[in-house]
Amino acid sequence: MSYPITRLRRLRRVESLRRLVRETRLSVDQLVMPLFVRPGKQIRSPIAALPGQFHFSIDQLVHECQALQQARIPAVLLFGIPPAKDDKASHAVSPEGIVQQAVRAIKQQVPQLLVITDLCVCAYVPHGHCGIVKKGQGAGGKGRGKKQSTSEVWSLESEVFIDNDATCELLANIAVSHAKAGADLVAPSDMMDGRVGVIRRALDAAGYADIGIMAYAAKFASNFYGPFRDAMDSSPAFGDRTPYQLDPANAEEALREVALDLQEGADIVMVKPALAYLDLIWRVKEQFRCPVAAFNVSGEYAMVKAAAARGWTRERPTWMEMLLAIKRAGADIVITYWAKDAAKLLQEK
Ligand SMILES: [Zn+2]
Repeated sequence: MSYPITRLRRLRRVESLRRLVRETRLSVDQLVMPLFVRPGKQIRSPIAALPGQFHFSIDQLVHECQALQQARIPAVLLFGIPPAKDDKASHAVSPEGIVQQAVRAIKQQVPQLLVITDLCVCAYVPHGHCGIVKKGQGAGGKGRGKKQSTSEVWSLESEVFIDNDATCELLANIAVSHAKAGADLVAPSDMMDGRVGVIRRALDAAGYADIGIMAYAAKFASNFYGPFRDAMDSSPAFGDRTPYQLDPANAEEALREVALDLQEGADIVMVKPALAYLDLIWRVKEQFRCPVAAFNVSGEYAMVKAAAARGWTRERPTWMEMLLAIKRAGADIVITYWAKDAAKLLQEK
């Protein structure tokens, strides 16, 4: 049946009709708020590249978590900024590390709020890469003649490389320390091969079979991470992350990453970033029928903030449309810096 019998505009006539036939709804139950924690007391310092977001000391972080709990947000994703960095990422694995302390404090004072901990070493090592950097047996093999600077050898992929398997072992130790502190889920974001399996076995062996893994499964080497790296002071000191993160051109490879992470024991798989990768969110959901998280990343947030500050877009409707699109694409969980704002807005409705 077609025009003039069928007129799709009939159901768009008034808002109550539009509400009746609305297909996708955003709920506070699906939102995860990313939070940054740093050492100190009474600190709630604004992050320049992420207007409206803050670095919190643990006492202030707990206050923020109480507010999020009141707004009915089910979970936070925690990123730690350590007091110092070293090649072994000592602060990442220490029971007195910033994340471990923060998790204990939240779990003590806001026990119902789920705490998901980001699992990576880039903020804890001076070189800023997501793994243990070694010299000598990289992809190009040894000895290419004349001595070069670190950045040159990295760019030649000859003598500096990320030790995949050693990194997995380190991540597993960090995961166990997060679980010990009380984390509900750990979220490895490094993109090493096999790390989900290594982490799962380590958690099980340490008695944490109930602690889940939300894997950054399809994490792309993206330009949309810029503001986050400023916030975390975690930009690579040399080279970039293309030797381990996904090529933005590759969807099939991303699906293989997701399949592997699920085989290795991931409970939730994540696509990151979200907006430029809605097709991947859709394909992952269609193919694997498992819980899918999408990370609405810092660059997506900052673009809207910057445009709104210039009067080029209206902030609230723009991000609501973004979050709705991510949900419509198939995401069950949306990790977003707008989680608190969205929760308020959804309550008002
Ligand atoms: Zn990292």
